[in-house]
Amino acid sequence: MNIMNDSKFAPESFVVPEIRNLPKSGIREFFDLVAGRNDIISLGVGEPDFVTPWNIRESAIYSLEAGHTAYTSNAGTPALRREICRYIARNYHVEYDYEHECLVTIGVSEALDLAVRALVEPGDEVIYTSPCFVSYPTEVLMARGVPVPLVTHEEDEFSVNPAELRKLITPKSKLLMLNFPCNPTGAVADEAVLREIAAIAQENNLIVITDEIYSELVYDGVKLVSIASLPGMKERTIFLHGFSKAFAMTGFRIGYAAGPRGILDAMYKIHQYSIMCAPVTAQEAATDALKSGRREMELMRDSYWERRNLIVKGLRDAGLTCVMPKGAFYAFPNITATGMTSREFAEGLLKEESVAVVPGSAFGPGGEGYVRACYATAEADIKTALERIADFVARHRR
Ligand code: PMP
Repeated sequence: MNIMNDSKFAPESFVVPEIRNLPKSGIREFFDLVAGRNDIISLGVGEPDFVTPWNIRESAIYSLEAGHTAYTSNAGTPALRREICRYIARNYHVEYDYEHECLVTIGVSEALDLAVRALVEPGDEVIYTSPCFVSYPTEVLMARGVPVPLVTHEEDEFSVNPAELRKLITPKSKLLMLNFPCNPTGAVADEAVLREIAAIAQENNLIVITDEIYSELVYDGVKLVSIASLPGMKERTIFLHGFSKAFAMTGFRIGYAAGPRGILDAMYKIHQYSIMCAPVTAQEAATDALKSGRREMELMRDSYWERRNLIVKGLRDAGLTCVMPKGAFYAFPNITATGMTSREFAEGLLKEESVAVVPGSAFGPGGEGYVRACYATAEADIKTALERIADFVARHRR
């Protein structure tokens, strides 16, 4: 017999309210519906469909063969940090000192968590562009901060409207989180907009977190500028990047943060006590990705570009409006012509046509009325999915 009175014992009552009340990821929730079904074409999960390029996998194998199986320096191997700082200097035109201004993390996910934990006090307001990657507002909530969405609009190709940003600033505003190219919209802010954002950040003493995880994946000669490279911004910007997307290395779990020493030192302390270091095998593979992965990465990018053109044309031909995404590997069509909510659309499409997309509402305010279709999927599957979407829209168009 169980001597505890189970009806009175509620384990969840021990959980701190911020975590108990945290919503589960809308993407995961939706994909639980798909789990176990192999008849489905998935444009759902935001992950490259390529296996990591062979030379990078070979480095991981070599690292194991050589018996490199111990902890590394907490901040990451000096070799990787040196390569990262060279890479940032070459491609984003910001110089960081690999010893004090760069930290290797478990994906951009950890880097984001460290930055928010190091900077956000209870009640601090954090402005983030929305729709956005699901972790931004939830990270802020976990730090007991107040997430403040800056909704981006289809009319602006989902870039930031600086006047709207100004309106959201209060004496409690502390941080601004940016992500270009954006998940889920594919938006890229042009240099003029970034300069205005930089001026606003300086006038209002904000720290900027710029998540540039998709920055290699830009198309049609779009010029990507990092806000960290603008005058006066290096000292107030935390630059986040990683290997998951451009190098097709999601499972290796390597990311990094670069930024002013005063903040990086604080992030390093949290990392040191909670993580110690990123896995050595993955760090050594990542070092080689930066040294010799460029060509393979460009081939993957060219392939995404072709598939982007295919999917956007197909969605438009199906009667949906769809902004041409400038980067990343997502299309974000407007589905309001069907009169459905984004969730009804995604559930209906899954049920009737066995095609999985993510409801825009999963990406926060501004996402309703859209769905996210990831085009890092085999071309043949994209074509079939587009035929099915066209049938679905034709049947439900109002
Ligand atoms: N930022 C954005 C915008 C993302 O889309 C993702 C992954 N979907 C991440 C960060 C996290 O990436 P990782 O932890 O694999 O580096």
